[in-house]
Amino acid sequence: MRPRRLRQSPALRRMVRETTVTIADVIYPLFVRPGHDLQIPIRSLPGQSQWSIDRLMREVTECADLGIPAVMLFGIPDHKDALGSDNWSPDGIVPSAIRAIKRDVPEMVVISDMCLCEYTDHGHCGEINHADSCNFNAALPNGYLLNDATLELLARSSVAHAEAGADVIAPSGMIDGMVGTIRAALDGAGFEHVLIMSYAVKYASSFYGPFREAAESPPQFGDRSQYQMDPGNRREALKEAALDVAEGADVIMVKPALPYLDVLSDVRGAYDVPVAAYQVSGEYAMLHAAAANGWLDLERTARETLTGIKRAGADMILTYFAKDVARWGNA
Ligand SMILES: [Zn+2]
Repeated sequence: MRPRRLRQSPALRRMVRETTVTIADVIYPLFVRPGHDLQIPIRSLPGQSQWSIDRLMREVTECADLGIPAVMLFGIPDHKDALGSDNWSPDGIVPSAIRAIKRDVPEMVVISDMCLCEYTDHGHCGEINHADSCNFNAALPNGYLLNDATLELLARSSVAHAEAGADVIAPSGMIDGMVGTIRAALDGAGFEHVLIMSYAVKYASSFYGPFREAAESPPQFGDRSQYQMDPGNRREALKEAALDVAEGADVIMVKPALPYLDVLSDVRGAYDVPVAAYQVSGEYAMLHAAAANGWLDLERTARETLTGIKRAGADMILTYFAKDVARWGNA
């Protein structure tokens, strides 16, 4: 046997390549904020910006022209409060952006990130147990995230985003029961056709650092390890995925991607639903930083990471490299 026979020319290598990342595999995360004619570059995510809705439309139109099938929206509201009310207001920043995209670029699949941390003044993913919170429970610790009270807020917000035209609701808070609650709320409001892409397996990762600058959403106290998964746990990922599949998730996600390829592969093998992986802000930023120093070739390393993520089992990849994938082609 001489396996090298299959590697001797670019054409032969292309013919036997098992995994190729194409533009149909990627989803582009976008940050939207109130205002007019705004494009505010995000320092720690080179090439990424916060957009006002008018400028976002140009960006989404360009994405559609490049062949990007879907965008994921994150909102930066003007107003934050204890319950994150901007998330379910029909005039909130994300519902407004969804309506604008579905009006101007109706073929674009709009995925709405569904969490409260971008909208709460404390930066946590739901209602917090506190003496003056409306659902205060003296038996629970101060500062504890109130699971079931938060589910009600997620249900209300999901219906608001579906009313605005979202194709997919993507609950990201790792709140127990979030998928079942959102499915029931959507069905109850007549939105049986709206998909749920669950952040089923989301780790409490340090690779989210640049995102928190981008979304202006760092927790004001503590961290999110009460509800996000511990990086040392692999079996537990299958338990989390099983719950979300049973509750009706149409797509399940593993996040981050590169440090969790074993988990991604496990989840892919265990379930028949499509699996998404999120190449998070820190994964993107570290490649850019190394390339800016001349230490790595950005295109080659980025393509290699995306190929690895797909090879491990991702059917779709949320990545800040989405537009680059289009420019690079499939060579
Ligand atoms: Zn959150």
